[in-house]
Amino acid sequence: MSQTTDSPPGPGRWDAIVIGAGAAGMMCAAQIGQRGRRVLLIDHAHKLGEKIRISGGGRCNFTNLHCSPEHFLSQNQHFCRSALARYTPQDFIALVERHGIAYEHKTLGQLFCRDSARQIVAMLKSECQRGDVQWWMPCEVRKVSREGADFMVDSDQGAALAPSLVIATGGLAAPKIGASPFGYRIAEQFGLTIVAPTPAPVPLAFAPETMARFGDLSGISIDAEVSCNGQHFRESLLLTHRGLSGPAILQISSYWRGGDTIEIDLLPGLDVEATLLAASGSRVQLDNLLAQFLPKRLCQHWCAANDGVKPLSEFSHGELRRIAHGLHHWQLRPSGTLGYNKAEVTLGGVDTDCLSSKTMAAKAVPGLYFVGEVVDVTGHLGGFNFQWAWASGHAAGQVA
Ligand SMILES: Cc1cc2nc3c(=O)[nH]c(=O)nc-3n(C[C@H](O)[C@H](O)[C@H](O)COP(=O)(O)OP(=O)(O)OC[C@H]3O[C@@H](n4cnc5c(N)ncnc54)[C@H](O)[C@@H]3O)c2cc1C
Repeated sequence: MSQTTDSPPGPGRWDAIVIGAGAAGMMCAAQIGQRGRRVLLIDHAHKLGEKIRISGGGRCNFTNLHCSPEHFLSQNQHFCRSALARYTPQDFIALVERHGIAYEHKTLGQLFCRDSARQIVAMLKSECQRGDVQWWMPCEVRKVSREGADFMVDSDQGAALAPSLVIATGGLAAPKIGASPFGYRIAEQFGLTIVAPTPAPVPLAFAPETMARFGDLSGISIDAEVSCNGQHFRESLLLTHRGLSGPAILQISSYWRGGDTIEIDLLPGLDVEATLLAASGSRVQLDNLLAQFLPKRLCQHWCAANDGVKPLSEFSHGELRRIAHGLHHWQLRPSGTLGYNKAEVTLGGVDTDCLSSKTMAAKAVPGLYFVGEVVDVTGHLGGFNFQWAWASGHAAGQVA
């Protein structure tokens, strides 16, 4: 199967057309084709599966063993339940194993390719081949319209007609590799509502004056617990020259809204108050004591900012308690996020109220389906977003 036109360009009838040959679109098209239906897969990109290729640092964190609805954000927390239950991480793992792809468990249930994410792209391509999926790629879609019971897709490779149209064009994250608002526009064209999209998981930024206060802490990475709006994540946190990043921050960014304060426990699991009180009276400097648990540069900065550059013997017990509290409850107010260029996915999207949770079909538009990231279902970091792409693509693939 080539990435260019396999079928003659120009008007043609298909059983189903899938727009977007990413994770969800390829999964969906393969399923439709393997049911014996004639399916056309269209994508405007020059290279197939670029987002999969760069995912997980080039190794694709393709699923998570602990996949459950609690790991997803949506206006309807229950919407993802049905599709995720009918296509599980074990189903995808079985597919990966059938294709002989070696994988490994890294942490927190996250499964990665041992060698390369390209193997997942090749696997999906070969599954499409098994279903005799035809491709128009690269191909710009100019217009989608209704022609009786069919959808007419007008493109620079010609027109195509089908009674089923699946939109799998993803969200707005990573615009440099082909993200576009196409899916939202089509949803609006057919009267579906959109939950306002925002970037996430995404690094958080600070205003220049805040950054100046931090001095040069960039590059420091710690194990921390970060909280915001009732959610908390304990993973690593990275101070950068623009603000905060690392898994703990990327996770909490999905719950952060402009103006919110985030709270960081710099020493989760350590009873800092007991540690400080046990050392009270000692001539050891506070920053030197803290440096047993945290990077030295961070301790020096913390102590300088909190009037703490002195020996423990010079602090009252009340002051030590306040310092302990401050280390467990560091409050910071980010000024924003680093936006879609640095985000992994898009929060929001096609309102799940407009879709069937079983088939991903638009309730009010027979034959129209939305799968993957374009839908208002967003996973936590850790392989959940791909699992949603596989599961929702598979769900529509059984009926489209
Ligand atoms: C850097 C990075 C790393 C990531 N790592 C992981 C990870 O390790 N694990 C994980 O679970 N998730 C990860 N994600 C998120 C994951 O990649 C997405 O959630 C997933 O790819 C969504 O699948 P999708 O098929 O819905 O959309 P996409 O994979 O984005 O596919 C959409 C497709 O539609 C095409 N398209 C867009 N607009 C048009 C148009 N107008 N006309 C025709 N075609 C169009 C695009 O070219 C693309 O091929 C990562 C994301 C990024 C950006």
